[in-house]
Amino acid sequence: MEYVSCDYCGCAESGVVARQTDLLHRTTDEVFSIVRCAGCGLHYTNPRPGPDEIGRYYATDYAFHASPPAWRRWADRALDIWANSPLAGLARVLSPVARRLAARVRPMVGDPVLEYYRSGREGTFLDIGCGSGWHAHYWGGQSAVLALRKRAAVAGVEVSDAARASLSESGVRCWATLAAVPDSEIFGLIRMNWSLEHVHAPNAYFSFMASHLKPGGRAIIAVPNYDGLIYRLAPDCVELPVHLYHFRPKDILAYGARHGLRGISVTTFSYPEMFRAAAAAGLWPSAFSSCSGIVAAKEMLRTLAPFDQAGWGNDMVVVLEKSLPPGAVSGSA
Ligand SMILES: [Zn+2]
Repeated sequence: MEYVSCDYCGCAESGVVARQTDLLHRTTDEVFSIVRCAGCGLHYTNPRPGPDEIGRYYATDYAFHASPPAWRRWADRALDIWANSPLAGLARVLSPVARRLAARVRPMVGDPVLEYYRSGREGTFLDIGCGSGWHAHYWGGQSAVLALRKRAAVAGVEVSDAARASLSESGVRCWATLAAVPDSEIFGLIRMNWSLEHVHAPNAYFSFMASHLKPGGRAIIAVPNYDGLIYRLAPDCVELPVHLYHFRPKDILAYGARHGLRGISVTTFSYPEMFRAAAAAGLWPSAFSSCSGIVAAKEMLRTLAPFDQAGWGNDMVVVLEKSLPPGAVSGSA
């Protein structure tokens, strides 16, 4: 275990705001603390497993490193579309199907990667934490590295040897760490999907993005939102100890501003399944574990919408842009 100072401001003083063990993956009974920096307000896990220890706190099936068969990818996509269509209610008569669809009910959140390229912007895409390149978390297969090859040159950073080898076979350049990416590599777009909360030193990632983006290039950062409804009501409803940082929108914007990356947009969003899964794990009131039907999930989604708009969604995606040099015309980069 290591005790650390604040990654953002260096302050060593902090106060405990929550304590919890690993109720989600059951890798340990140890109890961990989330602290709030007395200097800047950043929330982080402290003490925490160091870089050499963190591996044993990840469940063996934690990440999407495998390459799924084609039929599985199409079935996933079909279920997602059905769950979020007006026809989802038809599944009520088949309760096992309805439960599976309910878990997939979620708000439409525009994909900032597709929006970037559809708007005519250019530049190589770098996905930090790209897995095997088949899946882009919330945005599914169509925004994954392998699918994006038809829009732009792509590259990845991925710690898993197997996933990197599989991407190399597909002709995708992929490095194991940020330090392995050559200084000469400049990107138009860099994405981090639900990975920044896992790293030991977030500041180094912002520094990397600032130095590897072209002027006018963008960074897309998706992470849990510690300003979100579920964390406001239950600050200990957190994936510990593998989440080392618990960012609010203002934290991501402050990191960006320090490195010359200005905020373009902050979108927060929630989906019903997170509340049900948290209840099932014992992190959230058990009354929510019965919210598993398709009708209940749709109703809950409508209830959550104003919280999302208020910035209280449980997840967020923040888009940052590297400033153009003085005198340059916006959009010409
Ligand atoms: Zn601080």
